[in-house]
Order: sequence, then structure tokens, then C-alpha cells
Amino acid sequence: MTVRTRADLVALPSYVPGRTVPGAIKLASNEVSAGPLPSVVRAIADAATAVNRYPDNGVTDLVARLGDKLDVPVDQLAVGCGSVTLCQQLVQATCTDADEVVFAWRSFEAYPIVTAVVGAAQHRVPLTAGHGLDVDAMADAITDRTRLVFLCNPNNPTGTALKADEVRRFVDRVPSDVLVVVDEAYREFVDDPEVPDGVEFAKAQWAAGRDNVAVLRTFSKAYGLAGLRVGYAAASPQVAETLRKVSVPFSVNALAQVAALASLDAEDELLERCRGVVAERARVRSELLAAGFEVPESQANFVWLPLAGRTGAFNEHCLAHKVVVRAFDGDGARVTIGEPAENDAFLAAARSFTG
Ligand SMILES: *Cc1c(COP(=O)(O)O)cnc(C)c1O
Repeated sequence: MTVRTRADLVALPSYVPGRTVPGAIKLASNEVSAGPLPSVVRAIADAATAVNRYPDNGVTDLVARLGDKLDVPVDQLAVGCGSVTLCQQLVQATCTDADEVVFAWRSFEAYPIVTAVVGAAQHRVPLTAGHGLDVDAMADAITDRTRLVFLCNPNNPTGTALKADEVRRFVDRVPSDVLVVVDEAYREFVDDPEVPDGVEFAKAQWAAGRDNVAVLRTFSKAYGLAGLRVGYAAASPQVAETLRKVSVPFSVNALAQVAALASLDAEDELLERCRGVVAERARVRSELLAAGFEVPESQANFVWLPLAGRTGAFNEHCLAHKVVVRAFDGDGARVTIGEPAENDAFLAAARSFTG
């Protein structure tokens, strides 16, 4: 007899990571191209001598530090093995198989997976013609079964960002027992002052007695620690506590904890690096527009080319030019902003695309 695994998981697609091709420039996973800072590498190396011990399951030092930085009480924070794990924990914390999660589509590829792993239903709401989240349609999609809504801001993979009035208009329409998760994996790359800081927005909501807003951030993108897996959530005390309860014990490893602290020590330097990425984003976008591509304005560390049926050909063309982008077949290509020379190599490939 065959072991009975859950039948509903058979159809579940696996997460498709950005490809790594030897000798090619990788602009497929929204990583920071520059390596970790020497001070961070030193902190990791020092901590490596103690890895015979379990990590601090409460992530005490990092939580205290984040509490100070964000001005959020420590009981309203939860740290996870990357914010993608926190996405899954949030669905576990709110949903059973009788419930439903609402998110935009296309958005972060992990949302459908984490929702299906929990066994909850999903409702995908199409993006606007401008490739942004359609907050009115998302609010309309909420039913009695809805327990959680993912609001990816800026949105991966389109880079578009909601402004403060749109976020407020949306949250005002969400029933108070439905959790809104503002996923801010790319917050540090936002330079439009009209795009709200989700943590500040959430704090104002909590202060007004509305506990149904949570915010996700990560050390993977702006802080350059994608390989170590550490992200965090700021939420109401009740949601944060439930998040901690459903976490796999010791899932935030010891090296990740010290590296995150060392990165906060070096925050000014890391954020300066983000400013460089933002400047390159503007240059890449304007050169792509000049070359005749449609490129929505991005607030993240990548740009989106809605190439529809030409996406596969564009992907192959870039690969032939030794540049790896992230293609979503039939939809578009997401291209991470790298170092200037990497971006130049991509732009040269894009300009010679005739498909
Ligand atoms: C990259 C990304 C994350 C996850 O990052 P972790 O590495 O798991 O912290 C979460 N949300 C979005 C939208 C992302 O693009």
C-alpha cells in the first residue's frame, strides 16, 4: 500500500526559484548583488564557533532591537525563517480548510502555495490595467469565509505601489475580524513619499482600536541576507502571539540572528546602497522606455516588463546574452536591478530583442 499523503497537495505547484546559470549575470531573485558587509561577515564567523548550541528560540536580542527601531512593543513582533515563512504562519494562524485568503494576481508566488499548504481556499483578484493592486476589487472579493488578505506593497513582481489614500480606503472596507497583511519586503527601496510606511500605518490603526493590520519585512532584500533566512512581522499582540505559537521551534537560526543585528548596526551603509539601487532603477527604466518597452513605475529593486506572449522569447534572448531574468510565461519578465555593469549587460540584451 502507498502512504496516504494529502490528496489536495498533489496539484500544488512547487515554488520556482530564480535560476542560477554558471557564468551568467543573475537578475532573477531580487537579491542585492553586492556581497554582505565585512562587519556582518565577521559577526557571522564569530557566531559560527557556537553553533553546537541551539539558537535563542525567543530571538530576544533582535526583537528588542527591532522594537526600539520601529517603536513597537516587543510583544507585537514575531521573527521568522524569512518572511515567506511568516506568510505561511499567518495563514496557519488565521485559516482552516473552511476559510479563504484573498490576494492580487499576479503577486508574490508564495501566496498560493502557503495558502494551499494550510488547505485554505484562495481568491485571486486581477491587477489593474496599470499592473497595480485593484484595492476596490479586492475589497469586493472579501466574503464571510475570508480570514486574511495579502497586500504586497510594493507588489512583486510588478513593482507598483499603493499610495496612502488607497491603503486607507481598502482597510476601511475590510471587516475588523479579517487580517490585512501588508507585505513590505521591498520597503527600503520606496522613494515615493505618497507610499505609506506600513508600520506607521499599522501603529495608527492599532492606536485607533483596529487590530487587523499586520506588516511583514525581511532582511533578505535591502539588508542582503537572503541566504540566512530572517524576516519579521509587526502585528497586534494577539496575532503576534499566535504567530509565535505556530512557529517551528528554533527556526530562526543563530547565524541569522547575529547577522540581522550586525546589519542593523550597519544600517546607514546598507540603506545608502539601496539609494544606489534606486538611482539605477530610474536609469534602467528610462532606457527601457526609450527602447520602446512598457515598464510600470517601480518602487522596488526590480522592474516589470509586461511582455505577455513575448515573455518566453525575451527570456531565451536574455539567457543567450548571459543574463538570467525571472520570466512568468505568458505574462511578463521581472528583472532585478543589479550593479551598474550588470544592468548595462541586461540593457544591451533588451535593446537587441526583436521578438
Ligand atoms: C522576497 C519576498 C519575500 C520573502 O522574503 P524572505 O527571504 O522569505 O524573507 C516576501 N514577500 C515578498 C513579496 C517577496 O518578494
